Amino acid sequence: MEFDVVVVGAGPSGSVAAMTASKAGLKVLLLERGPEPGSKNVSGAMIRPTSIQNYVDLSSAPVDRDVKRVDIGLFSSQGDLKVSFRPSSRLVTLSRLKFDKWLAQQAENSGATLITKTTVTGIEPSDGKKKVLTDRGIVEAKSVILSEGANALISMALKIRPEFSPKEAVQAVKEVYSSTKDDITRRFGLSGDEGVAFRFFIDYPLPSAGFLYTYKDSISIGVGAPINFLLEKKVRPSDLLEIFKDRTGLNEIVKGMSLREYSAKIIPEQGFPSWKACSEGIYLTGDTIGLINPLEFNGIGPAIASGFLAGKSVANSSSCYEYEKSLYQDKEISEVIRARPLVRELLKPEKMSTYINLFPRLMNSWISGNLTDSGVRQFLPKIAKDLILSFGVIG
Ligand SMILES: Cc1cc2nc3c(=O)[nH]c(=O)nc-3n(C[C@H](O)[C@H](O)[C@H](O)COP(=O)(O)OP(=O)(O)OC[C@H]3O[C@@H](n4cnc5c(N)ncnc54)[C@H](O)[C@@H]3O)c2cc1C
Repeated sequence: MEFDVVVVGAGPSGSVAAMTASKAGLKVLLLERGPEPGSKNVSGAMIRPTSIQNYVDLSSAPVDRDVKRVDIGLFSSQGDLKVSFRPSSRLVTLSRLKFDKWLAQQAENSGATLITKTTVTGIEPSDGKKKVLTDRGIVEAKSVILSEGANALISMALKIRPEFSPKEAVQAVKEVYSSTKDDITRRFGLSGDEGVAFRFFIDYPLPSAGFLYTYKDSISIGVGAPINFLLEKKVRPSDLLEIFKDRTGLNEIVKGMSLREYSAKIIPEQGFPSWKACSEGIYLTGDTIGLINPLEFNGIGPAIASGFLAGKSVANSSSCYEYEKSLYQDKEISEVIRARPLVRELLKPEKMSTYINLFPRLMNSWISGNLTDSGVRQFLPKIAKDLILSFGVIG
């Protein structure tokens, strides 16, 4: 059977790529190895609908909670500091199982054919076309979009995407706890479908960044740290999560809830444009080309943006140069790219620790009436480079 384009992976980037190419009139096949879209994903996420709305209409998307408060916490040897914000733009939480299914449904509604329980095992050239090999047979296509996520075996086998060293990656671990809608609402002092999100940082035994998100009837807690810190300090990822919950008091919050899921995933610190996003009619999207900020855990927006651009590029028979240029010029994606040098710098243990300690120390000196002795002066040379790098992020 022959298609104009075969999309590998029905995550956010693959489904949006399939939807965009179908809407342009192409014959599209979307292949997913899981029993259903979303089933292979680390479940639950927080997204910014306003930025995603530019690529896909989210008006009927299955949203769990509207996040009305974000708590930022710095837990340091200098003391603990917590600040609450009301987000200035809309943030929502959603279940990945429901959201990925809904996105794949949008692709089907646009005319794409979705086939699940099918793993792509390789891609071979065939008379100017591509032969897509799967564990259930072979299909032919003029183009292929690889939206296979971070563990991009096909892209690496084709040598389009390099393998990255674990030393240039963040190890993320996550737990999901189940409860009832009323219990979540009561525990977090919410009302109706309101939600809350925590972004916490700890400085000991190794500086790490984590989160808590509230969903309809569950919560997720996750934490990430560069793999080289974990190796150096001999801390296992599962132990890091326990330390994080203990240090931030989240252990108390989850008491009485039932643990439903534990998962671990690696997030590369590198990616496009250091990595190629395209080669001879094969277009790569989302996590496959590292479009994620490992400090913010923000990857769904850039994944959707790249899927949209890959779908358009295939429909317009754009060259690799044109596709990569469009990625570079996209607002969502360029934010990830521009932030990368700063993020890499902030992921250094001594740097992360400096920031986690800076504000609690400042506040502590202030309430002790001893601001002149706050030690801020000694921090200034350490943060000067970041101030310069942040100009790259602001643009
Ligand atoms: C702990 C953690 C928390 C996160 N939280 C957030 C968050 O709150 N907000 C946010 O925006 N981002 C978050 N992210 C990032 C986000 O999950 C990713 O950036 C996003 O899922 C990338 O989408 P994608 O389509 O590129 O890849 P994926 O979502 O990984 O989808 C890839 C799909 O391809 C399928 N597949 C792979 N190989 C094959 C194959 N050979 N054949 C067929 N199918 C295949 C997989 O089964 C999967 O369905 C988080 C990440 C982690 C690790």
